[in-house]
Amino acid sequence: MPQSEDKMYTPEEFEQAIGQKPSMLSGGRLHGFREGWALVGFGKAHHFTRCEDDISLAETKCGLFARVKGLFGAGSWDKCKRCQRKVDGG
Ligand SMILES: [Zn+2]
Repeated sequence: MPQSEDKMYTPEEFEQAIGQKPSMLSGGRLHGFREGWALVGFGKAHHFTRCEDDISLAETKCGLFARVKGLFGAGSWDKCKRCQRKVDGG
């Protein structure tokens, strides 16, 4: 079997990274993340923007913070309505 060069989180590492237990994962790890829809492994997808003063963190449009390395691609996941409204310019 070929070995992937991408480091994959074990469930334990993932739990440490985001401080909560993972439930379901979606579109995979994000690389070079700046802004966009992402999951932190559970709940709804939020629209994150990477913080300029601490690039290990990203802030959502609805005011949450998460560690960038804990973010996963949102795929077709349900989106946070509060983030969606701000992205739409409301
Ligand atoms: Zn949100």
